[in-house]
Amino acid sequence: VQQQAVTLHKARLPQTDQALLPYGLGRSYGDSCLNAEGIVLATRELNNFISFDVEAGILRCQAGVSLAEIIQFCLPKGWFLSVTPGTKFVTVGGAIANDVHGKNHHVDGSFGHHVKQFELLRSDGQSLLCSEETNTDLFHATIGGLGLTGLISWAEIQLKPVNSVNMAVETIRFSNLQEFKLLSSESAKTHMYTVAWVDCLAKGASLGRGIFIRANHANDGILSSSSEIYKQSLQKIVMPFDLPSRSINTWTLHCFNALYYRKQLKKHVCTGQHFDAYFYPLDAIAKWNRMYGKKGFFQYQFVVPADDYQVISLVFKLIADSGLGSFLAVLKEFGEIKSLGLLSFPRKGICLALDFPNRGKQTLDLFDKLDAIVVEANGAVYPAKDARMAKASFLSYFPRAEEFRAYTDPQFSSNFWQRMQL
Ligand SMILES: Cc1cc2nc3c(=O)[nH]c(=O)nc-3n(C[C@H](O)[C@H](O)[C@H](O)COP(=O)(O)OP(=O)(O)OC[C@H]3O[C@@H](n4cnc5c(N)ncnc54)[C@H](O)[C@@H]3O)c2cc1C
Repeated sequence: VQQQAVTLHKARLPQTDQALLPYGLGRSYGDSCLNAEGIVLATRELNNFISFDVEAGILRCQAGVSLAEIIQFCLPKGWFLSVTPGTKFVTVGGAIANDVHGKNHHVDGSFGHHVKQFELLRSDGQSLLCSEETNTDLFHATIGGLGLTGLISWAEIQLKPVNSVNMAVETIRFSNLQEFKLLSSESAKTHMYTVAWVDCLAKGASLGRGIFIRANHANDGILSSSSEIYKQSLQKIVMPFDLPSRSINTWTLHCFNALYYRKQLKKHVCTGQHFDAYFYPLDAIAKWNRMYGKKGFFQYQFVVPADDYQVISLVFKLIADSGLGSFLAVLKEFGEIKSLGLLSFPRKGICLALDFPNRGKQTLDLFDKLDAIVVEANGAVYPAKDARMAKASFLSYFPRAEEFRAYTDPQFSSNFWQRMQL
């Protein structure tokens, strides 16, 4: 998508009549960070730290600061992100605007729960301080607000105390969804981070088999320096070119999934792992998206109410029968903590995220079938990962969308929003 960009060096909106959209690190998979009919406001130069209360773990920084930069600065002092997505290459503004979640939703909720306040610049010239106490409605609309309520110039976030760069990790092989369910509810009581990788091509008695991964921050007192953290986070492998689209096919996927499922000989393994390898495995491979070839891929991520394992079984069956599935099927149970944003995606339930190589109509037809199941189950698809959901589905997933519309900035828009015709 061709788009016009203006790099912001100062926290000020440009004088123009064109539609505006803030842009962070572009790590959203779909079109919520694109604005082909207007201008994107590139925020990465708004990357100053403003203040850090090292006793309380409260950081104030400009919205273009990345999570990688926060970790590098704060972890040596014993503070880590309260919530982190599966990549550290996202900005604070982007993390707020999608109210991103991590593997600790059952304990800590989503990113928005740890935002104390931010400044919002609106196209009418106002700069508004937003928090639970001030401009509360706009605060709640902007968390998960897809960049449509204005530009967040800076934000203040609460970090989490840790005393190690390492994680105590357990990986447990499970044979089906019933075993996943038991492991998930048991592990939620003992572990801060829980997630599972599922072989979405397995059928019959093995339907929903996978590897459950649960972890806590280690307690070994090892806190590296900023430069060590930086070195560790450098991308070690680069995908030098687009793989031929044919290289990811049912046969290669079956082989990969079967090997991954059996990668550990023992059913239950306990290890120590550096936080970077644990939280951000894909960050180690620059341009990993090239693995899917020139036609690229889609990610489909949805959540359905927690007791609805039947829905998840149905989805796995549909995907296994279609033969269109992928390497990375990630299953996670979200907890009770209610999201703050009017359009926040996280809610109590089971969340599944899958990559699909782009096979054109075949893939899109499968997504239509999946949408119908998710709508019926009262669930939601994640806009940050979407480039094709229909307006009717969006309104079903986000019943407060009409209410949200009142808080959008009239000069702000995106391809996603245009598509929703709201
Ligand atoms: C490998 C990988 C793993 C991921 N794992 C997860 C995960 O586990 N959980 C999860 O929730 N997400 C995950 N994501 C998605 C990613 O975390 C989100 O899409 C995130 O919002 C991207 O942030 P960004 O800085 O790249 O923002 P962009 O993608 O550039 O923009 C995202 C949205 O934020 C808005 N925005 C950006 N800056 C501002 C600002 N200053 N003010 C107002 N609005 C702003 C944009 O307008 C847009 O609507 C993953 C993505 C990748 C590539």
